[in-house]
Formats: sequence, C-alpha cells, structure tokens
Amino acid sequence: MSLKEKYIYMIEENQLELLDLASSLIRIPSENPSGMMDAVVEYILGYLKASNIDVEIAYCEKDFPNIIASIGHDEDNLVILNGHADVVPVGDINKWGFDPFSGDIVDDKLRGRGTSDMKAGLAGLIYAMKIIKESGLKVNGKLELHVVTDEESGGQYGSKWLMSKGYGKNAKACIIAEPTPENNIEVGQKGSLNIRVETYGVSAHGSIGNYVGENAIEKMMTILPSLHKLRDMKGIYKKEQLHVLEDSKKIARESLKVEGSENVIDHVAVNIGLINGGIKDNMVPDYCVTDINCRLPIGLTCSDVEKRTRQIVDSLNLQGVKLTFEYNCEANYTDDTTSLVKSVKSNAEYIWGAEVTPAYQWATSDARYYRYENIPTIQFGPANLEGIHSYNEDVDLDDIIKSTQVYVGVLFDLLGLSE
Ligand SMILES: [Zn+2]
Repeated sequence: MSLKEKYIYMIEENQLELLDLASSLIRIPSENPSGMMDAVVEYILGYLKASNIDVEIAYCEKDFPNIIASIGHDEDNLVILNGHADVVPVGDINKWGFDPFSGDIVDDKLRGRGTSDMKAGLAGLIYAMKIIKESGLKVNGKLELHVVTDEESGGQYGSKWLMSKGYGKNAKACIIAEPTPENNIEVGQKGSLNIRVETYGVSAHGSIGNYVGENAIEKMMTILPSLHKLRDMKGIYKKEQLHVLEDSKKIARESLKVEGSENVIDHVAVNIGLINGGIKDNMVPDYCVTDINCRLPIGLTCSDVEKRTRQIVDSLNLQGVKLTFEYNCEANYTDDTTSLVKSVKSNAEYIWGAEVTPAYQWATSDARYYRYENIPTIQFGPANLEGIHSYNEDVDLDDIIKSTQVYVGVLFDLLGLSE
C-alpha cells in the first residue's frame, strides 16, 4: 500500500470523527441572510487551532469574517482549498420533515440546512488539513484553506475580497468543495448580466387611450418578445473544449429531464423576472420597467450580449426606451488538461470506482474569483442536489467520506506529501 493509499484508508477508518465535525457545523446556524457568522467561525477556528494549524482571521466587513488557515511555507507551490460556512435561509420551517439544525444522522444520511451546500464538503477540507498536520506529513509547497461566509450573498466580502488583497496569489490550484454529482468535476460556469428595460410614454385618460397618449406598457410588450432572440446566441469554444462541452450538455439533459435542456450550457439564458408599470386601469401608463437576468455561456462576454440587445431594440425604432446593463460576472473555466483536473479525475475514479467527467455548469459561484486570477480551479463535493436551496436538505455519509478521500488523494499529488 502506498503512503497515499494509507491516508485515503485512514479517512475511512476515522470516519466517525469526520462525520462528527460535519454534524457540529450543521448544528451552528449561519443563515445568510440574516444570521450571524461568529459562532460557526469561532468553532472552525478552535478546531484548526487544536491541530496546531496556523490560522488568521481577515475581513473587510466584520459580519462576514474569513478564516485563512495554512500548512507549509513555500508559496512557489501554493494550493488553495475553499469552502463557505454560510447557508441559505431555512425558509418555511413547516415544509421541513426534520429540524434543519439537528445535524442528525439517519439512514446513512446527514440531515440539515447546509449539509450539501456545503458544510459537509467544508468539513472534508478541514478534516483533510487536520490529518495532514497531525501526522506531520511534509508539504512540498503550501496548503492554504479559505473559509468564507458570504458566498450565498455573492462573495464580495469573502473570496472576491481575499483575491483582491492578494491572498492565494499565484496559486497553482484551487479546490472548492461545492456540491457536485459524484461523477462530475465542475470546470466552468456561465457569466451573468442584468438588463433593465424602461419605457416612457405619455399619460392620458384611459377612455381615449386608443387615440391619444402613448402607452408605455404596450411599448414594453413590443420589446420583450423581441429579446427572445438573445436565446439564440451561442457560446464560442476552443477545439480542446468541445468534448467537455458535449459531456456537459449530456449531463444537463439527463438532470433537467426536459427536451432541449442541453442548450442551457452553450446558449444565452434569458429570464424576464420582474415587471412593473402603470398606475390605474383607466389611465394610459407613461412608465414601465422590466428587469431581466441573462446567463452567458463560455466565449460570450457581457459586452457581446449588451451589443446584441441594443441592436435588437434599436431595430424596433421606438422612442422613449432606456436600457441599462449591469455586468455581474463573466463566464469562466479551467482547462481539463491541467494537473489539478487530471488529479481530481484519477483520484475520484479510483475512490468511486466509476468514470468521473469534467463538466461545465449553468450556475455561478466563488470559483470565478480564483479563475479570474488565472488559478486553475475546480469544484467537487458531496451532495444530494434535491435539497439544495430547498427543503429537507441532506447528504449521504458515503459521499462525505469519499469526497474527503478525494481531497486527500489530490493533495498528495499536488503537494508531494511525504513522511
Ligand atoms: Zn454553495
């Protein structure tokens, strides 16, 4: 048995300790919004310190503190682990079949808010660090864990801020323990753009609206269907990315179970999400506003979609239309040829005994902040996808254990861990 195999086996042997850590994290509420993060951060800090791991608290907004924990000093081979300790709110408590903060283990599952997204994954990362530190393994480089607490509100005080301050700069790899199907490694995500359409008209008495005045809602009714054309915009991929694209489309089709849904990966998605206009039924409305969120595939920028939107609306030749664009984030990816992706794939396939595929997702996450700094970044973590951001969230114990084994295996590869 190789040294790596010995440690992978050790995770299985010590599983009660790992699962207990995951349960403990579930029992500390950290809803975002509007809970407090102090208790969960204190707990993790204490856990890391007990293993003599170097820790630091860093924040720009004191309600959302970050933990930086590290082993080793050689920044030339820096590997980052990232996990968020905040969870989405419980929502309607009556829709849960169990206490969302129980952290109980029932039928080989850990139950509660944040089990899949992503306290079980975070527990795996913390536990991997503990094992490495306590067994005194030599680290050929530096391992740095970023625990953030505002991923669910966009990451500006967490991963984004850490990157802007140079934490993890020039890292060789970043592993984020966000929930994924066990046979998928997330290697790319879509961008996001908001469009606000405002139409202005001229008010008049509703009874004569057929002849006088200018109806802002009717103007909006002309514009909105034309924006469906944005959905025809396709991503642009390098030749080397096409096989990942094909796999991703297949996975999307299988998981969404709707004909044509594979296009969610490589087409612009347009959601007309909010509309408001008019004052009263007998008044011709002189204002209407619509908010639209678009998700952009790899190879298309926010600017590309802004240009196309302006083109479509201009071609309608309407007066009194205002378009405002908010660039939320650009699509991002990591090449599947990097040693990080290869290592995650080979370790995950060894541990799960099945094929594991790198894939693009339709979501967005903190991964982008690392990718924007050219750090190869993947997401791989324990999950039962049904309960995420919904009710009755849980995760399989086996998934927690195996994901942690994958983390340890990958760290052996990337950091040349030795005795
Ligand atoms: Zn998450």
